[in-house]
Amino acid sequence: MRYQVIAAVLAMIGSAVQAQTVDETTRPVSRSGADSEVSRSAVSLVSVTAPRNSLRPALRPAVTAKPEMLVPAAAQSGFQDWIKGFRTRALRKGISDTVFDRAFNGVQYDADVIRRDRNQSEFTKTIWDYLDSAASDARVNNGKAALRKHGALLDRIEAQYGVDKDIVVAIWGLESAYGTFRGSNPVIGSLATLAYDARRSDFFEEQLIQALKILQSGDVTLPNFKGSWAGAMGHTQFIPTSYQSLAVDFDGDGKRDIWSDDPADALASTANYLAKNGWIKGAPWGVEVRIPQGFDYTLANRDIKRMPSEWARIGVVDLEGKAVPDHGSASVLLPAGAKGAAFLIFKNFDVIETYNTADAYVIGVGHLSDRITGAGPIRSDWPREDRALTFDERIEMQRLLTAKGFNTKKIDGKIGPLTINAVRMFQTSIGDIPDGYASLNILKKLR
Ligand code: CA
Repeated sequence: MRYQVIAAVLAMIGSAVQAQTVDETTRPVSRSGADSEVSRSAVSLVSVTAPRNSLRPALRPAVTAKPEMLVPAAAQSGFQDWIKGFRTRALRKGISDTVFDRAFNGVQYDADVIRRDRNQSEFTKTIWDYLDSAASDARVNNGKAALRKHGALLDRIEAQYGVDKDIVVAIWGLESAYGTFRGSNPVIGSLATLAYDARRSDFFEEQLIQALKILQSGDVTLPNFKGSWAGAMGHTQFIPTSYQSLAVDFDGDGKRDIWSDDPADALASTANYLAKNGWIKGAPWGVEVRIPQGFDYTLANRDIKRMPSEWARIGVVDLEGKAVPDHGSASVLLPAGAKGAAFLIFKNFDVIETYNTADAYVIGVGHLSDRITGAGPIRSDWPREDRALTFDERIEMQRLLTAKGFNTKKIDGKIGPLTINAVRMFQTSIGDIPDGYASLNILKKLR
Protein backbone atom coordinates (compact mmCIF):
# COMPACT_ATOMS: atom_id res chain seq x y z
CA MET A 1 0.00 0.00 0.00
CA ARG A 2 2.75 2.39 -0.82
CA TYR A 3 0.31 4.78 -2.40
CA GLN A 4 -1.53 5.16 0.82
CA VAL A 5 0.32 8.19 1.98
CA ILE A 6 -0.42 10.18 -1.12
CA ALA A 7 -3.86 8.73 -1.38
CA ALA A 8 -4.49 9.96 2.11
CA VAL A 9 -3.42 13.39 1.04
CA LEU A 10 -5.68 13.20 -1.93
CA ALA A 11 -8.63 12.18 0.05
CA MET A 12 -10.97 14.99 -0.27
CA ILE A 13 -12.03 15.21 3.24
CA GLY A 14 -9.92 18.20 3.61
CA SER A 15 -6.90 16.26 4.62
CA ALA A 16 -5.34 18.89 6.72
CA VAL A 17 -1.84 17.98 5.83
CA GLN A 18 0.57 20.57 7.04
CA ALA A 19 3.05 20.33 4.28
CA GLN A 20 5.81 22.87 4.43
CA THR A 21 6.32 23.70 0.83
CA VAL A 22 3.20 22.49 -0.84
CA ASP A 23 -0.33 22.82 0.17
CA GLU A 24 -2.67 19.97 0.28
CA THR A 25 -5.24 19.32 -2.32
CA THR A 26 -8.52 20.60 -1.23
CA ARG A 27 -11.84 19.49 -2.38
CA PRO A 28 -15.31 19.79 -1.20
CA VAL A 29 -16.26 16.71 0.48
CA SER A 30 -18.62 15.25 -1.88
CA ARG A 31 -16.81 15.09 -5.09
CA SER A 32 -16.53 11.54 -5.40
CA GLY A 33 -19.88 10.51 -4.81
CA ALA A 34 -21.34 10.94 -8.14
CA ASP A 35 -24.82 9.92 -8.61
CA SER A 36 -25.54 9.69 -12.23
CA GLU A 37 -28.88 11.35 -11.90
CA VAL A 38 -27.38 14.40 -10.32
CA SER A 39 -24.11 14.43 -12.13
CA ARG A 40 -23.64 17.59 -14.10
CA SER A 41 -20.61 16.60 -15.98
CA ALA A 42 -17.98 17.08 -13.36
CA VAL A 43 -14.60 16.52 -14.59
CA SER A 44 -12.77 15.70 -11.66
CA LEU A 45 -14.49 13.45 -9.70
CA VAL A 46 -17.34 11.81 -10.35
CA SER A 47 -19.92 14.17 -9.86
CA VAL A 48 -20.81 16.01 -6.97
CA THR A 49 -24.14 16.33 -5.87
CA ALA A 50 -24.66 19.75 -4.86
CA PRO A 51 -27.95 21.02 -5.85
CA ARG A 52 -27.85 24.42 -7.40
CA ASN A 53 -28.84 26.27 -4.30
CA SER A 54 -26.79 24.39 -1.85
CA LEU A 55 -25.57 26.56 0.94
CA ARG A 56 -22.73 24.28 1.77
CA PRO A 57 -20.17 22.09 0.20
CA ALA A 58 -22.15 19.28 -1.16
CA LEU A 59 -22.49 16.10 0.62
CA ARG A 60 -22.02 12.89 -1.01
CA PRO A 61 -25.08 12.22 -3.04
CA ALA A 62 -28.03 10.24 -2.14
CA VAL A 63 -26.68 7.85 0.30
CA THR A 64 -29.69 7.17 2.36
CA ALA A 65 -28.31 3.96 3.69
CA LYS A 66 -24.70 3.04 3.79
CA PRO A 67 -24.11 -0.14 1.83
CA GLU A 68 -22.38 -2.79 3.83
CA MET A 69 -18.71 -3.20 3.17
CA LEU A 70 -17.95 -6.47 1.50
CA VAL A 71 -15.69 -8.86 3.29
CA PRO A 72 -12.39 -8.50 1.45
CA ALA A 73 -11.80 -12.22 0.83
CA ALA A 74 -15.28 -12.76 -0.55
CA ALA A 75 -14.99 -9.52 -2.47
CA GLN A 76 -11.73 -10.62 -4.03
CA SER A 77 -13.11 -13.85 -5.47
CA GLY A 78 -16.37 -12.22 -6.54
CA PHE A 79 -14.29 -9.50 -8.16
CA GLN A 80 -12.26 -11.96 -10.21
CA ASP A 81 -15.49 -13.54 -11.47
CA TRP A 82 -16.85 -10.10 -12.28
CA ILE A 83 -13.75 -9.32 -14.39
CA LYS A 84 -14.49 -12.37 -16.56
CA GLY A 85 -18.00 -11.10 -17.28
CA PHE A 86 -16.81 -7.55 -17.78
CA ARG A 87 -14.17 -8.74 -20.25
CA THR A 88 -16.92 -9.90 -22.60
CA ARG A 89 -18.72 -6.56 -22.32
CA ALA A 90 -15.50 -4.60 -22.86
CA LEU A 91 -14.52 -6.58 -25.95
CA ARG A 92 -18.00 -6.02 -27.35
CA LYS A 93 -17.37 -2.29 -26.94
CA GLY A 94 -14.23 -2.40 -29.00
CA ILE A 95 -11.48 -3.09 -26.49
CA SER A 96 -8.96 -5.55 -27.90
CA ASP A 97 -8.29 -8.72 -25.96
CA THR A 98 -4.59 -7.87 -25.84
CA VAL A 99 -5.23 -4.45 -24.31
CA PHE A 100 -7.76 -5.86 -21.87
CA ASP A 101 -5.61 -8.72 -20.67
CA ARG A 102 -2.54 -6.54 -20.26
CA ALA A 103 -4.57 -3.90 -18.36
CA PHE A 104 -6.12 -6.47 -16.02
CA ASN A 105 -3.00 -8.52 -15.43
CA GLY A 106 -2.71 -8.78 -11.65
CA VAL A 107 -5.55 -6.37 -10.90
CA GLN A 108 -6.95 -6.94 -7.42
CA TYR A 109 -10.02 -5.74 -5.58
CA ASP A 110 -8.94 -2.67 -3.63
CA ALA A 111 -10.76 -2.49 -0.29
CA ASP A 112 -9.12 0.85 0.42
CA VAL A 113 -10.94 2.42 -2.55
CA ILE A 114 -14.28 1.22 -1.20
CA ARG A 115 -13.45 2.42 2.28
CA ARG A 116 -12.79 5.89 0.89
CA ASP A 117 -15.96 5.80 -1.15
CA ARG A 118 -18.01 4.89 1.91
CA ASN A 119 -16.42 7.39 4.23
CA GLN A 120 -17.21 10.49 2.30
CA SER A 121 -20.71 11.03 3.49
CA GLU A 122 -19.54 11.20 7.06
CA PHE A 123 -17.52 14.32 6.69
CA THR A 124 -18.15 17.77 5.63
CA LYS A 125 -16.37 21.01 6.10
CA THR A 126 -17.73 24.43 6.70
CA ILE A 127 -17.17 26.74 3.80
CA TRP A 128 -14.78 28.94 5.79
CA ASP A 129 -12.61 25.99 6.72
CA TYR A 130 -12.65 24.90 3.12
CA LEU A 131 -11.74 28.37 1.85
CA ASP A 132 -8.99 28.78 4.45
CA SER A 133 -7.33 25.80 2.86
CA ALA A 134 -8.32 26.51 -0.76
CA ALA A 135 -6.77 29.98 -0.58
CA SER A 136 -4.10 29.35 2.03
CA ASP A 137 -0.97 31.50 1.87
CA ALA A 138 0.94 28.52 0.52
CA ARG A 139 -1.55 27.84 -2.24
CA VAL A 140 -1.76 31.52 -3.19
CA ASN A 141 2.03 31.88 -3.29
CA ASN A 142 2.47 28.64 -5.21
CA GLY A 143 -0.16 29.86 -7.66
CA LYS A 144 1.69 33.11 -8.23
CA ALA A 145 4.87 31.11 -8.78
CA ALA A 146 3.07 28.80 -11.24
CA LEU A 147 1.74 31.80 -13.17
CA ARG A 148 5.30 33.12 -13.50
CA LYS A 149 6.99 29.82 -14.25
CA HIS A 150 4.50 28.76 -16.90
CA GLY A 151 3.69 32.26 -18.09
CA ALA A 152 4.48 31.75 -21.77
CA LEU A 153 2.57 28.47 -21.95
CA LEU A 154 -0.40 29.94 -20.09
CA ASP A 155 -0.48 32.97 -22.37
CA ARG A 156 -0.65 30.70 -25.41
CA ILE A 157 -3.42 28.62 -23.82
CA GLU A 158 -5.36 31.76 -22.89
CA ALA A 159 -5.05 33.10 -26.43
CA GLN A 160 -6.12 29.84 -28.04
CA TYR A 161 -9.07 28.96 -25.81
CA GLY A 162 -10.21 32.37 -24.59
CA VAL A 163 -10.09 31.32 -20.96
CA ASP A 164 -8.36 33.48 -18.36
CA LYS A 165 -5.11 31.85 -17.30
CA ASP A 166 -5.59 32.58 -13.61
CA ILE A 167 -8.74 30.45 -13.49
CA VAL A 168 -6.92 27.56 -15.16
CA VAL A 169 -4.12 27.89 -12.63
CA ALA A 170 -6.62 28.04 -9.75
CA ILE A 171 -8.24 24.79 -10.83
CA TRP A 172 -4.77 23.27 -11.12
CA GLY A 173 -4.03 24.51 -7.60
CA LEU A 174 -7.13 22.96 -6.09
CA GLU A 175 -7.13 19.74 -8.04
CA SER A 176 -3.53 18.67 -7.56
CA ALA A 177 -1.71 21.48 -5.70
CA TYR A 178 -0.23 22.55 -9.06
CA GLY A 179 0.66 19.06 -10.13
CA THR A 180 2.13 17.97 -6.82
CA PHE A 181 -0.56 15.38 -6.03
CA ARG A 182 -1.80 13.88 -9.24
CA GLY A 183 -2.78 10.56 -7.71
CA SER A 184 -0.85 7.33 -7.60
CA ASN A 185 -3.61 4.74 -7.67
CA PRO A 186 -3.76 2.52 -10.74
CA VAL A 187 -6.72 3.82 -12.74
CA ILE A 188 -7.83 0.40 -13.96
CA GLY A 189 -7.72 -1.22 -10.52
CA SER A 190 -9.57 1.65 -8.82
CA LEU A 191 -12.28 1.95 -11.45
CA ALA A 192 -12.72 -1.82 -11.70
CA THR A 193 -13.21 -2.01 -7.93
CA LEU A 194 -15.78 0.78 -8.04
CA ALA A 195 -17.52 -0.74 -11.07
CA TYR A 196 -17.73 -4.10 -9.32
CA ASP A 197 -19.06 -2.49 -6.15
CA ALA A 198 -22.82 -2.16 -6.20
CA ARG A 199 -23.21 1.46 -5.20
CA ARG A 200 -22.59 3.10 -8.55
CA SER A 201 -21.60 0.32 -10.85
CA ASP A 202 -23.06 1.70 -14.09
CA PHE A 203 -21.28 5.01 -13.76
CA PHE A 204 -17.93 3.45 -12.97
CA GLU A 205 -18.21 0.70 -15.58
CA GLU A 206 -18.59 3.42 -18.19
CA GLN A 207 -15.55 5.20 -16.75
CA LEU A 208 -13.64 1.92 -16.89
CA ILE A 209 -14.57 1.28 -20.53
CA GLN A 210 -13.39 4.77 -21.42
CA ALA A 211 -10.20 4.21 -19.41
CA LEU A 212 -9.48 1.09 -21.46
CA LYS A 213 -10.08 3.07 -24.65
CA ILE A 214 -7.60 5.70 -23.47
CA LEU A 215 -5.06 2.96 -22.89
CA GLN A 216 -5.83 1.42 -26.27
CA SER A 217 -5.35 4.76 -28.01
CA GLY A 218 -1.76 4.96 -26.80
CA ASP A 219 -2.17 8.33 -25.09
CA VAL A 220 -0.71 6.83 -21.91
CA THR A 221 1.27 3.78 -20.96
CA LEU A 222 -0.02 1.35 -18.38
CA PRO A 223 2.68 2.16 -15.78
CA ASN A 224 1.81 5.87 -16.06
CA PHE A 225 -1.93 5.31 -15.96
CA LYS A 226 -2.46 6.63 -12.45
CA GLY A 227 -5.05 8.75 -10.73
CA SER A 228 -6.97 9.35 -7.54
CA TRP A 229 -8.66 6.45 -5.80
CA ALA A 230 -11.83 7.38 -7.72
CA GLY A 231 -10.18 7.46 -11.13
CA ALA A 232 -9.64 11.22 -11.52
CA MET A 233 -6.46 11.67 -13.50
CA GLY A 234 -3.60 14.04 -14.00
CA HIS A 235 -2.87 17.65 -13.11
CA THR A 236 -6.50 18.74 -13.18
CA GLN A 237 -8.12 15.41 -12.36
CA PHE A 238 -10.17 14.51 -15.38
CA ILE A 239 -12.33 11.43 -15.17
CA PRO A 240 -12.09 9.22 -18.28
CA THR A 241 -15.34 10.38 -19.93
CA SER A 242 -14.35 14.05 -19.57
CA TYR A 243 -10.89 13.23 -20.86
CA GLN A 244 -12.36 11.52 -23.89
CA SER A 245 -14.57 14.44 -24.81
CA LEU A 246 -12.39 17.40 -23.85
CA ALA A 247 -8.70 16.60 -23.40
CA VAL A 248 -6.38 18.05 -26.04
CA ASP A 249 -2.85 17.52 -27.32
CA PHE A 250 -1.50 21.04 -26.89
CA ASP A 251 2.21 20.41 -27.34
CA GLY A 252 1.61 18.54 -30.59
CA ASP A 253 3.42 15.30 -29.81
CA GLY A 254 0.39 13.26 -30.87
CA LYS A 255 -0.60 12.28 -27.34
CA ARG A 256 -3.09 13.89 -24.99
CA ASP A 257 -0.83 13.49 -22.00
CA ILE A 258 -2.33 14.87 -18.79
CA TRP A 259 -0.22 12.59 -16.58
CA SER A 260 3.36 13.65 -17.21
CA ASP A 261 5.30 16.29 -15.28
CA ASP A 262 4.84 18.70 -18.18
CA PRO A 263 1.42 20.28 -17.52
CA ALA A 264 0.89 21.69 -21.04
CA ASP A 265 -1.73 19.21 -22.24
CA ALA A 266 -3.53 19.12 -18.89
CA LEU A 267 -3.80 22.90 -18.59
CA ALA A 268 -4.91 23.31 -22.18
CA SER A 269 -7.46 20.53 -21.64
CA THR A 270 -8.80 22.41 -18.63
CA ALA A 271 -9.07 25.63 -20.64
CA ASN A 272 -10.82 23.70 -23.40
CA TYR A 273 -13.22 22.26 -20.84
CA LEU A 274 -14.11 25.70 -19.52
CA ALA A 275 -14.34 27.18 -23.02
CA LYS A 276 -16.72 24.45 -24.18
CA ASN A 277 -18.86 25.11 -21.13
CA GLY A 278 -19.21 28.79 -21.97
CA TRP A 279 -16.44 30.68 -20.17
CA ILE A 280 -16.58 34.44 -20.74
CA LYS A 281 -13.06 35.83 -20.87
CA GLY A 282 -12.39 38.80 -18.65
CA ALA A 283 -15.66 38.47 -16.74
CA PRO A 284 -15.69 37.72 -13.01
CA TRP A 285 -17.01 34.53 -11.40
CA GLY A 286 -18.42 36.59 -8.57
CA VAL A 287 -17.88 39.71 -6.50
CA GLU A 288 -18.10 40.00 -2.73
CA VAL A 289 -20.95 42.35 -1.83
CA ARG A 290 -22.66 44.05 1.09
CA ILE A 291 -26.27 43.19 1.89
CA PRO A 292 -28.38 46.08 3.20
CA GLN A 293 -30.35 46.19 6.42
CA GLY A 294 -33.85 44.94 5.83
CA PHE A 295 -32.86 42.90 2.77
CA ASP A 296 -35.48 40.46 1.58
CA TYR A 297 -33.49 37.24 1.98
CA THR A 298 -35.80 35.28 -0.26
CA LEU A 299 -34.09 37.15 -3.12
CA ALA A 300 -30.86 35.27 -2.36
CA ASN A 301 -31.81 32.50 -4.73
CA ARG A 302 -29.91 31.13 -7.71
CA ASP A 303 -33.02 31.38 -9.83
CA ILE A 304 -33.39 35.12 -9.25
CA LYS A 305 -31.09 36.97 -11.63
CA ARG A 306 -30.81 40.72 -12.03
CA MET A 307 -28.29 43.13 -13.41
CA PRO A 308 -25.86 44.45 -10.77
CA SER A 309 -27.27 47.97 -11.28
CA GLU A 310 -30.69 46.66 -10.27
CA TRP A 311 -29.20 44.95 -7.23
CA ALA A 312 -27.50 48.23 -6.34
CA ARG A 313 -30.85 50.00 -6.33
CA ILE A 314 -31.95 47.84 -3.40
CA GLY A 315 -28.62 48.26 -1.64
CA VAL A 316 -26.62 45.24 -2.78
CA VAL A 317 -23.30 46.95 -3.50
CA ASP A 318 -19.60 46.16 -3.44
CA LEU A 319 -17.56 46.53 -0.28
CA GLU A 320 -16.73 50.14 -1.16
CA GLY A 321 -20.45 50.88 -1.37
CA LYS A 322 -20.50 51.19 -5.15
CA ALA A 323 -22.63 49.36 -7.66
CA VAL A 324 -20.91 46.26 -9.01
CA PRO A 325 -20.11 46.80 -12.72
CA ASP A 326 -22.59 45.22 -15.10
CA HIS A 327 -20.89 41.99 -16.10
CA GLY A 328 -24.23 40.44 -16.98
CA SER A 329 -27.05 39.22 -14.83
CA ALA A 330 -26.21 37.98 -11.36
CA SER A 331 -27.75 36.29 -8.39
CA VAL A 332 -27.04 36.78 -4.70
CA LEU A 333 -25.27 33.87 -3.04
CA LEU A 334 -25.00 33.58 0.74
CA PRO A 335 -22.95 30.44 1.27
CA ALA A 336 -23.24 30.67 5.06
CA GLY A 337 -26.49 32.54 5.40
CA ALA A 338 -27.01 36.08 6.63
CA LYS A 339 -24.04 35.96 9.02
CA GLY A 340 -21.46 35.12 6.39
CA ALA A 341 -19.98 36.65 3.25
CA ALA A 342 -22.31 37.48 0.35
CA PHE A 343 -21.53 37.40 -3.35
CA LEU A 344 -23.05 38.47 -6.61
CA ILE A 345 -22.35 35.55 -8.91
CA PHE A 346 -22.22 35.57 -12.70
CA LYS A 347 -22.25 33.20 -15.65
CA ASN A 348 -18.66 32.13 -15.05
CA PHE A 349 -19.72 30.77 -11.66
CA ASP A 350 -21.96 28.34 -13.54
CA VAL A 351 -19.06 27.42 -15.79
CA ILE A 352 -16.75 26.54 -12.88
CA GLU A 353 -19.68 24.64 -11.43
CA THR A 354 -19.55 22.23 -14.37
CA TYR A 355 -16.19 21.13 -13.01
CA ASN A 356 -17.60 20.49 -9.56
CA THR A 357 -21.00 21.57 -8.40
CA ALA A 358 -20.22 22.30 -4.76
CA ASP A 359 -20.55 26.00 -4.02
CA ALA A 360 -17.49 25.84 -1.80
CA TYR A 361 -15.42 24.47 -4.67
CA VAL A 362 -16.62 27.12 -7.11
CA ILE A 363 -15.98 29.95 -4.66
CA GLY A 364 -12.64 28.33 -3.78
CA VAL A 365 -11.52 28.28 -7.41
CA GLY A 366 -12.82 31.77 -8.10
CA HIS A 367 -11.34 33.27 -4.97
CA LEU A 368 -7.99 31.55 -5.47
CA SER A 369 -7.84 32.93 -9.00
CA ASP A 370 -8.51 36.42 -7.61
CA ARG A 371 -5.84 35.99 -4.96
CA ILE A 372 -3.10 34.81 -7.29
CA THR A 373 -3.70 37.88 -9.42
CA GLY A 374 -3.27 40.16 -6.42
CA ALA A 375 -6.70 40.55 -4.79
CA GLY A 376 -7.04 40.38 -1.03
CA PRO A 377 -8.87 37.86 1.14
CA ILE A 378 -12.63 37.72 1.51
CA ARG A 379 -13.38 40.56 3.93
CA SER A 380 -16.69 39.61 5.51
CA ASP A 381 -16.77 37.49 8.64
CA TRP A 382 -18.03 33.94 8.68
CA PRO A 383 -20.09 32.40 11.50
CA ARG A 384 -17.00 30.55 12.69
CA GLU A 385 -18.70 29.43 15.88
CA ASP A 386 -20.81 27.10 13.73
CA ARG A 387 -19.64 23.66 12.84
CA ALA A 388 -20.70 21.56 9.88
CA LEU A 389 -23.62 19.23 10.39
CA THR A 390 -22.94 15.53 10.28
CA PHE A 391 -24.82 13.28 7.89
CA ASP A 392 -27.06 12.07 10.72
CA GLU A 393 -27.80 15.64 11.78
CA ARG A 394 -28.77 16.58 8.25
CA ILE A 395 -31.13 13.63 8.14
CA GLU A 396 -32.54 14.67 11.52
CA MET A 397 -33.05 18.23 10.29
CA GLN A 398 -34.97 17.02 7.26
CA ARG A 399 -37.15 14.75 9.40
CA LEU A 400 -37.92 17.51 11.88
CA LEU A 401 -38.68 20.07 9.17
CA THR A 402 -41.00 17.65 7.40
CA ALA A 403 -42.70 16.66 10.67
CA LYS A 404 -43.40 20.33 11.39
CA GLY A 405 -45.05 20.78 8.02
CA PHE A 406 -42.05 22.20 6.12
CA ASN A 407 -41.75 19.38 3.66
CA THR A 408 -38.23 18.69 2.38
CA LYS A 409 -39.65 16.06 -0.02
CA LYS A 410 -36.63 13.85 0.50
CA ILE A 411 -34.85 12.66 3.63
CA ASP A 412 -31.46 12.06 2.06
CA GLY A 413 -28.98 14.14 4.04
CA LYS A 414 -28.47 16.50 1.11
CA ILE A 415 -29.03 20.15 1.70
CA GLY A 416 -30.55 21.08 -1.64
CA PRO A 417 -33.07 23.66 -2.82
CA LEU A 418 -36.01 21.85 -1.24
CA THR A 419 -34.39 21.68 2.17
CA ILE A 420 -33.22 25.27 1.92
CA ASN A 421 -36.74 26.30 1.08
CA ALA A 422 -38.09 24.34 4.03
CA VAL A 423 -35.53 26.02 6.29
CA ARG A 424 -36.63 29.42 4.99
CA MET A 425 -40.26 28.61 5.76
CA PHE A 426 -39.36 27.43 9.24
CA GLN A 427 -37.29 30.57 9.81
CA THR A 428 -40.18 32.75 8.69
CA SER A 429 -42.54 30.89 11.01
CA ILE A 430 -40.39 31.69 14.05
CA GLY A 431 -39.50 35.22 12.99
CA ASP A 432 -35.89 34.51 12.02
CA ILE A 433 -34.19 35.92 8.94
CA PRO A 434 -35.17 33.51 6.14
CA ASP A 435 -31.70 32.98 4.73
CA GLY A 436 -32.21 29.24 4.29
CA TYR A 437 -28.96 28.47 6.05
CA ALA A 438 -29.21 24.95 7.43
CA SER A 439 -27.08 25.52 10.51
CA LEU A 440 -26.66 23.71 13.79
CA ASN A 441 -28.57 26.57 15.37
CA ILE A 442 -31.57 25.82 13.16
CA LEU A 443 -31.37 22.16 14.10
CA LYS A 444 -31.39 23.12 17.78
CA LYS A 445 -34.41 25.32 17.26
CA LEU A 446 -36.17 22.50 15.43
CA ARG A 447 -35.48 20.18 18.34
CA1 CA B 1 0.81 16.13 -26.04
